[in-house]
Amino acid sequence: MRDVTKTYGDVGALRGVSLEIDHGELVAVVGPSGSGKSTMLNIVGTLDRPTAGTVTIAGNDVDTMTDDALSQLRAEHVGFVFQHFHLQSGATAAENVADGLLYAGVPRRQRRLRAVAALERVGLGHRVDHRPDQLSGGEKQRVAIARAIVGDPSILLADEPTGALDSVSGAAVLALLRELNDGGTTVLVITHDLELAASLPRRVRMRDGLVEHDDARQPLGSAR
Ligand code: ADP
Repeated sequence: MRDVTKTYGDVGALRGVSLEIDHGELVAVVGPSGSGKSTMLNIVGTLDRPTAGTVTIAGNDVDTMTDDALSQLRAEHVGFVFQHFHLQSGATAAENVADGLLYAGVPRRQRRLRAVAALERVGLGHRVDHRPDQLSGGEKQRVAIARAIVGDPSILLADEPTGALDSVSGAAVLALLRELNDGGTTVLVITHDLELAASLPRRVRMRDGLVEHDDARQPLGSAR
């Protein structure tokens, strides 16, 4: 992101944010409520367009792309995980995960096979035909992560993924994010949990729509 602003009416949600994240990084985004964290994540994930400034994802200059091209870019490169899971209550774990491939042009049978494989990857191979109300909070979040990674995205964006979980389930979800990162996925995670943030290699701290601190910008020999 370079000099990105986002305004809603007279609210400056982002007021000039420049941030470079390399392929394979694991980054925590911290900061008080209302500081612009979710806005930034949505813009990085191309769910939202900036008011001004430029965004480049995997070499693609997002500003000049049509909405269709952006959907394609998202389907290919980006997975999302949210605090409250956003699962469909009437659908099984496998069906929820298969939905992650709807925009990738994968045939129905293949979608199911890949969904089951993704559930196995997050340790839920024994829960594929369970519905969300038959799963614990931690299991629901793992289903949501399976949905986010079923299309093999290069970037995983997580907005408070442990915020609704007890500490044990939260730790399991964090371990899973680390494992995905070890496998090469770039992970950007918003968190209120300072202990969690402190355990990650890079922290970006937002305040009032600006990056207040970024470990990557520290002089050599400190923080990182
Ligand atoms: P955070 O994720 O750090 O809590 P947000 O990015 O959600 O912060 O919000 C940043 C600011 O932008 C807040 O003042 C919020 O009220 C405002 N904002 C975010 N989204 C919208 C929207 N869709 N419409 C109007 N204001 C918004």
